[in-house]
Amino acid sequence: MKTVYCSVFGHNYVVSKKITFHVNEYKCTHCRAQMTTNSNGKLTPLTPKFKEINSVLERIHKRRKFKRLEGLLIFEH
Ligand SMILES: [Zn+2]
Repeated sequence: MKTVYCSVFGHNYVVSKKITFHVNEYKCTHCRAQMTTNSNGKLTPLTPKFKEINSVLERIHKRRKFKRLEGLLIFEH
């Protein structure tokens, strides 16, 4: 789905979803190509496999955040 604009100027990726502190999902504003950050910190196409990995990462990340909040509450009491 590469548009003429993208093949001339390159993709214009914006963050579409934050997964963890290090991993984001990106979407091109022109052709909607989707990318994600892989374990090497590089951009890679967002394949169904990576989507699956990211959803697992997201779940773990949210749980960790919640635990930290819980710990803080206990600490404050
Ligand atoms: Zn594009």
